[in-house]
Amino acid sequence: MRPLHARYPFFAAARQAVESAEVAIATLVTEDAPAVERGVERVERALMEGTVEAEDPYAWDTQSELLSYPISRIIVSLVETPAAVDKYARAEADTAYERMLADFGAGDNDINSDARASLDDFLREFDLTDSVRAESTGNSHRAPEYYWVDVGPYLTYCDTDWGANWRLVNRSLADGAVRVARTELYELLREAVRRRVAEGLPFTVRGSDAGDQLADALKPHVERLRNLLSDRGAINVVYTDSVDPDHFPPCVEALLTRAQDGEALPNEAAFSLAAFLVGVGLSPEEVGGVVGEANAESLKNRATILADSSGSQYAPPTCETMQAYDLCVNRDDRCDTISHPMKYFKTATTDAESAATDEATGGAD
Ligand code: SF4
Repeated sequence: MRPLHARYPFFAAARQAVESAEVAIATLVTEDAPAVERGVERVERALMEGTVEAEDPYAWDTQSELLSYPISRIIVSLVETPAAVDKYARAEADTAYERMLADFGAGDNDINSDARASLDDFLREFDLTDSVRAESTGNSHRAPEYYWVDVGPYLTYCDTDWGANWRLVNRSLADGAVRVARTELYELLREAVRRRVAEGLPFTVRGSDAGDQLADALKPHVERLRNLLSDRGAINVVYTDSVDPDHFPPCVEALLTRAQDGEALPNEAAFSLAAFLVGVGLSPEEVGGVVGEANAESLKNRATILADSSGSQYAPPTCETMQAYDLCVNRDDRCDTISHPMKYFKTATTDAESAATDEATGGAD
């Protein structure tokens, strides 16, 4: 295992190094080896800070650093949210990009040369050697400022979201190649890295005895990461201005918490929550945005049906029905004055508005 493999663990040679080392990932996980701790840190930093760089780069040896990569892929797969895969792949690519900038700029006598990759290494890795040509500077000692990239690979790695500047119509084209600045070439390589990292993620871990054991051993880490994602609002909690969740009745608050914690809500609970959220004015997209990643799609679909319908058939359940469903929980004083969760929300909102007006009026006196 070379330091270069640990620095760029998505390289094919790095994967081969892991395979030929014949280290059983399952054993590392069961023994809670340093690579597991680093793998958890890798995912946590990716999800929270957008980098997979170790907090203390001197804390890990080459083997732990390299092996943390396959372990982090298992962890990301177990976290089971598309947002986690996306964030993780971007963080790996962004970190590789920073390293690539440092490596390509390092001199020939650099003491860390064994860990550094060259531009040629990257082009070879992504099968681009014949597709990228440096534009002559007229000075062999100066790094080229521009390159010509064949249209095929250019279009493969160029993202349409990058803006008009990347569109072919706004580019110099010659002999089937596109002229790009050196920094733009590096951005194409970053995208190539992101795609390679994202490839195959998430994969199924459970389903065999070995997979189940692995997943069970990693469960505390995975649950903590899920909670971190949820605490950081990665589940995209957004309400319209006119809807204040502080005015939701306790039964709805409880349902929301269950949904945001990732519980697959039973039918009545999912219907009650979706019907209430549509009832207070949230669009199906907004419903999907506030109920947490695990329930987003199903509750958004329910909300779409509810929002399209009319009449009392799809009205949110009354308190009596909520009690029958066993969903009337954490009652408070206001509950004694109403018979419908919607009424709870309306009176709580009205009371809050009156209190705000009183305060404003009092302040003006
Ligand atoms: S009384 Fe009604 S509003 Fe209050 S918690 Fe029960 S169901 Fe919800």
